[in-house]
Amino acid sequence: MAGRKRKEVPGVLSLFEEELPPSVPPEQRKEYAQLSARLRHLSKKYYQEDAPEVSDDVYDQLYQHLLALETQFPDLRQQDSVSATVGADPLPPFAKIAHLSPLFSLDNAFSEEDIVAFLSRLQRFLTSKEGDAPLDIIVEPKIDGLSVSLRYEKGVLLSAATRGNGEQGEDITQNARTIPTIPPYVPALEALPLLEVRGEIFMPKQVFTALNAQRQKEGAPLFANTRNAAAGSLRQLNPAITAERSLQFFAYALSSSLPEVPTQEHLLERLKDWGFQVAAPTALCSSSSEVFAFYRHILSQREDLAYAIDGVVLKINAFTVQERLGFSSHAPRYAIAYKFPAERVVTRLRDIQIQVGRTGALTPVALLDPVVLNGARVTRASLHNEDEIARKGLSIGDQVIVQRAGDVIPQVIDVAVAAPERQPYLFPDYCPSCGALSIRFEGESLRRCPAGLSCPAQRLERLVHFVSRKALNIERLGRRSLRFLIATGRIVSPVDLFTLEQREAQNPLAQCAGWGEVSVQALFHSINLARTVPLDRFLFALGIESVGAATARLLAEHYGSFSAFREAGRDLLSLQEDLAILSGIGPKILADIHAFFTCVENNTLLDIFASHLQIVSLAERPTSLPFSGKVIVFTGTLEHMSRAEAKTLAERLGARVSDTVTRITDYLVIGKNPGSKQAQAQRLGVSILREESWKEIGENGRKDA
Ligand code: NAD
Repeated sequence: MAGRKRKEVPGVLSLFEEELPPSVPPEQRKEYAQLSARLRHLSKKYYQEDAPEVSDDVYDQLYQHLLALETQFPDLRQQDSVSATVGADPLPPFAKIAHLSPLFSLDNAFSEEDIVAFLSRLQRFLTSKEGDAPLDIIVEPKIDGLSVSLRYEKGVLLSAATRGNGEQGEDITQNARTIPTIPPYVPALEALPLLEVRGEIFMPKQVFTALNAQRQKEGAPLFANTRNAAAGSLRQLNPAITAERSLQFFAYALSSSLPEVPTQEHLLERLKDWGFQVAAPTALCSSSSEVFAFYRHILSQREDLAYAIDGVVLKINAFTVQERLGFSSHAPRYAIAYKFPAERVVTRLRDIQIQVGRTGALTPVALLDPVVLNGARVTRASLHNEDEIARKGLSIGDQVIVQRAGDVIPQVIDVAVAAPERQPYLFPDYCPSCGALSIRFEGESLRRCPAGLSCPAQRLERLVHFVSRKALNIERLGRRSLRFLIATGRIVSPVDLFTLEQREAQNPLAQCAGWGEVSVQALFHSINLARTVPLDRFLFALGIESVGAATARLLAEHYGSFSAFREAGRDLLSLQEDLAILSGIGPKILADIHAFFTCVENNTLLDIFASHLQIVSLAERPTSLPFSGKVIVFTGTLEHMSRAEAKTLAERLGARVSDTVTRITDYLVIGKNPGSKQAQAQRLGVSILREESWKEIGENGRKDA
């Protein structure tokens, strides 16, 4: 394979095919190559983009088929075959962190026979070497999150990394620090120079459901399952977003064993003593029948657990035995994941409803004959978008297969029995709310209604957003009241709320059914309170696409006043330059901000807002830390510390670290061979510090901080 770059196109034969061993019949070589290309593509979507294209059990079936081909034709398996690799390479812009010892995946079992085969493999291995070792197996819940490794130096959390390709993961230290169940300091580990605590970061089911409900309201794409949502919340550049997503961590392993902790059972106890959370329940089993009984027990408890699980993990309890069994290229031999079957039911697709979101996104939802799935009554299911409906060939009246993806959102998987005389479903060209011709931009999977405020559904959704808790927080204005105010012509856009009281005399609201004098006065009071609004809330309330609450806060902190932000928003170049220093602000957000501020209608509304609202700038950033509010850029090869450590130190001292030198950079710290950033800093008059000076400042600052 040396020197050849593999072409990976889903479903298309890869170059890899030519390089497969000639001893294998051409038919199987071709099949193996196609399957490998497909699995690589799916893994990339799943691990690197957090956007799975198929459900896990579909992936698992393809993967099992690949393993079956390899068993039949062992020559097919190469060093870099899909079955010999773990996860996917870490991706920029995250820095890479090399793990102290590799992180592995797990082999999978899907049936009792698979477990019996696994246990007898272990027995054979162990008895052949050292007589009848007791085969204590600990069975733990298999948490549906993503595995991470937390590095502690003498008890202090130093860094956190995703599993990545098993050898190197992505640096997610800042994000992990926002998770309350990850202790920043573990006194019991003080005596150890370096140790990694490993486990799973996950999103509790309740948080996941609320997040998706919120995203649906905002017209944002939904997360497919809890793993996907946890990964999306962790693998992004803005720790403030991670902090908002209420992620949690369960610990279950260490990078190396400790002499005083001889078994996995002891380790779980020890981890709890150290202040980590550990998943429960677990069971210590010594026979296959005990394993099956526990598997069934936990399957029956699954719905009641606060977190999603997709099976159980069996591990040999004694670490000495684990060590003897060792690892294959991709998984430990002493453990196996025993996966739960994806529960599926068949029911009738009664109708497809098109929901119109705040930004005009048209989202299809399947209306189903009620059916019970994993113990819950299901009447609606996700259909994602127009292409998904076409791909599955759905038609109203079909009996469809519904599944809970990753344990939570029901999804329509396929047609089970086609309805007689069926008509393929055609996604409407028109917005179901206002009748405007919908549009679909190239490269987007969403169809949108372009009518903006003149579309009643969008008008309502925007108002709902504007008055919501994280925006202007106007109480007494639920969806029903807003609908009434719109239907009676009292309001069209958010600015009309601020003249409602003034117009009361001409058209008294208090005389309308359901509105008494008291509730109308309470509403006006609540609107009046909202006339003074913090900048971040106002920015969020504007409903600029892709500007959520956390981004709004970043922008508010950065610009300080609404007029400064509005002015920058009109000029794409200055916006790009200003925001280059804010991690988490990507090109899509920039484009959305610019589009918002260059729209004539929005500017008209903003001018009217100015006469009704007092937008309060955020208080100055705290200046108690030595580098508070400063922007630092590092360049060249640093000799005294790694780039990651230099960055962490700067942030600990209150600075913000950026990759680009702009006019608002305060310091450029240069190592060896600094390159073009030094010239840029000289041109802009930015202070330049040699690494030695930075080290000294950093050390003094660290003492002061
Ligand atoms: P895995 O999820 O099957 O099992 C290994 C992982 O289990 C570990 O890395 C760890 O993160 C996790 N785990 C949870 N609880 C654990 C515990 N108590 N002890 C130890 N580990 C625990 O393996 P994987 O390599 O992460 O992913 C492979 C799986 O991912 C596939 O089987 C498939 O279901 C899914 N996948 C899906 C797609 C898709 O397109 N839908 C693509 C690639 C992979």
